[in-house]
Amino acid sequence: MAGAIQAVRGMNDLLPEDSSVWQQVESVLRQTLSSFGYSEVRMPIVEKTGLFCRAIGEVTDVVEKEMYTFEDRSGDSLSLRPEGTAGCVRACLEHNLIYNQEQRLWYMGPMFRHERPQKGRYRQFHQTGCEVFGLKGPDIDAEIIMMTASIWKKLGIADKLHLEINSLGSAQERKAYRDELVKFLEAHFDDLDEDSKRRTHTNPLRVLDTKDEKVGEILKDAPRLRDFFGEETLAHFNKLLSLLDDAGIKYVINDRLVRGLDYYNLTVFEWVTDALGAQGTVCGGGRYDSLVEQLGGTPTPAVGFGLGMERLILLLTTLDKIHPQSAVDVYVVGAGDDCERYQAKVSMSLRESLPSLRIMNHCGGGNFKRQFRRADKLNAKVAVIIGSQEIADNLVTIKDLRNQDAPQSTCALTDAASKIKEILGL
Ligand code: ATP
Ligand code: MG
Repeated sequence: MAGAIQAVRGMNDLLPEDSSVWQQVESVLRQTLSSFGYSEVRMPIVEKTGLFCRAIGEVTDVVEKEMYTFEDRSGDSLSLRPEGTAGCVRACLEHNLIYNQEQRLWYMGPMFRHERPQKGRYRQFHQTGCEVFGLKGPDIDAEIIMMTASIWKKLGIADKLHLEINSLGSAQERKAYRDELVKFLEAHFDDLDEDSKRRTHTNPLRVLDTKDEKVGEILKDAPRLRDFFGEETLAHFNKLLSLLDDAGIKYVINDRLVRGLDYYNLTVFEWVTDALGAQGTVCGGGRYDSLVEQLGGTPTPAVGFGLGMERLILLLTTLDKIHPQSAVDVYVVGAGDDCERYQAKVSMSLRESLPSLRIMNHCGGGNFKRQFRRADKLNAKVAVIIGSQEIADNLVTIKDLRNQDAPQSTCALTDAASKIKEILGL
């Protein structure tokens, strides 16, 4: 027999215990995003390759090295989406959502990058993203940062993440800076690592983001972008900082925070944790005021973030802040002639009267001992027991599985739901 086929490297299965944790986190995210008035959009996972080249930039790591690009059967070049912003802008333009309109949107789903798989870095990963269109002031930048802060708070990890923030200025300011930075990098060219050498002439600002310590030392004397800022950029940045101060959100200004994608301007930010090692950025975002125009729309200011779900969940489980929930509240067991029919009837009737509870009917027979072991394994809270007496008289026997000392009690099927509620304190 041939060996079993395994999953693609860097692409993970989420098993029942994982998905229980994911669902809890997703529900906090959905609830928070919706409490700020944001609406969900769902885009395809595949887009035309040209969209990403144009949006993200040809000389970014993502487009140069990380995209899953293939030709489909009609000969079109398509790519699995490496991020959500490009597709979201494309969808908004295609459906005319942002012409003269504001939109506050979010999405959640898988993204794909061909990177070296390691802890916190996968080839299929998931992001929850938000994108806001049509608002240009620092108030909305502050709002999306406050929204992320309230997510951390609800998940109990507010003290485990810190906010790094920077401004990338306007395109003109960056251009003037870029020229100075290139001169500086050229003067130190021989001491740069290979990546930085390459980027000096393709994407020099990305050199600031280097993880190489030696280059980091050299950069301490590099010209600083903020010295090239005009009044407008400074006013935007300072107002944002004062709004964050008002909201009690602490931040660190990181001059060298440039982010990996080309489309950002003005505000950029990252939420970083020390608890995950090298892959410490859980969420990153910023303003991208030129992207809509670049993708063929009328100029529309925009700001957003992408939050890495795997890293967030890794952080929550590392800190023991979240646990899988049992999938079953009530387990219905039975023995005796033809008990299956009455068992099925009892289970269905309980599901109808207790729709928010998870009610599992034991299948496959066996003695009570075996059935109770199954209930235990599933962490069920209540057992509903059916024997010949119950079948004969339309009764059920109910047992509190979390309190072994509590006596079990027999009641009419019509009273079962209220008895179960009483045991569960509902
Ligand atoms: P990094 O510097 O870690 O490569 P990035 O700047 O490439 O991150 P973004 O494009 O800003 O990441 O994506 C937003 C978030 O998505 C990241 O902060 C991270 O939490 C998550 N993320 C990005 N790439 C991966 C990946 N390969 N695996 C898991 N999560 C990822
Ligand atoms: Mg990356």
